[in-house]
Amino acid sequence: MTNTSASHPTALAGTDFLPGPVLLLGAPGVGKGTQAQLLVTQYGIPQISTGDLLRDNIARGTELGLKAKEIMSSGHLVDDGIVNQMVLHRLQEKDTHCGYILDGYPRTLDQARFLDHTISDPAFLPRLSVVAVSIVVAYDQLLRRITGRRICSVCKSIYNVYSNPPDTEGVCDLDGASLVQRSDDTEAVFAQRMKTFEEQTAPVIAHYRNLGRFAEANGDQNVEAVNTAVEEALVKLRQAAR
Ligand code: AMP
Repeated sequence: MTNTSASHPTALAGTDFLPGPVLLLGAPGVGKGTQAQLLVTQYGIPQISTGDLLRDNIARGTELGLKAKEIMSSGHLVDDGIVNQMVLHRLQEKDTHCGYILDGYPRTLDQARFLDHTISDPAFLPRLSVVAVSIVVAYDQLLRRITGRRICSVCKSIYNVYSNPPDTEGVCDLDGASLVQRSDDTEAVFAQRMKTFEEQTAPVIAHYRNLGRFAEANGDQNVEAVNTAVEEALVKLRQAAR
């Protein structure tokens, strides 16, 4: 990774730069998860993925997981109330005190309002408003990414059979565990998820754009270049939103 360069955005902002609460927005498959993992490593703040929290509930067979399972496999959104409570709970954990990266949340205007209201309470650290970065990629490109995506069943590393295949088909390079495909990573479910994204998440983008806390990053580049674009956006947004 090229992050030690003196011209790197974080270097320009100062070595103690922390992005605070961050929203990573974008259509399914734009690379939110990959970029969130990089930010976790760079800043030492946690990633909070509502999709992962829901899948964890499904895997554990909780009541919440049972409710969410069918909705998720159809490509629709889980109820705002369920997701908001899950996030509220997660934001009370201490590891969020220096900031966090919300991945896949908020996805509706009601969720965005709930989040803004929740973290405006001084009990929630860090006492900073959220800044939002939307990663943008064209539809056809996303379709290949989604239907080609495979995930390590153990370490959760992400591969793509077209653009980033493992050394051995179906096997994780890092730990040798089997790679799995998410049940909602099919073409039919992708089309529904895109429709849901356009209908429900576009207002979230408009909300943060209107608040002046929104930027776009070109997601149609290699992972490191997207990372640099996201970081540049974060530095600028945080300087403006202080
Ligand atoms: P993701 O892993 O973020 O692509 O999410 C997978 C699925 O989980 C989505 O298609 C939704 O069904 C559900 N989901 C994840 N996050 C949310 C959210 N913030 N609001 C409602 N449903 C969600």
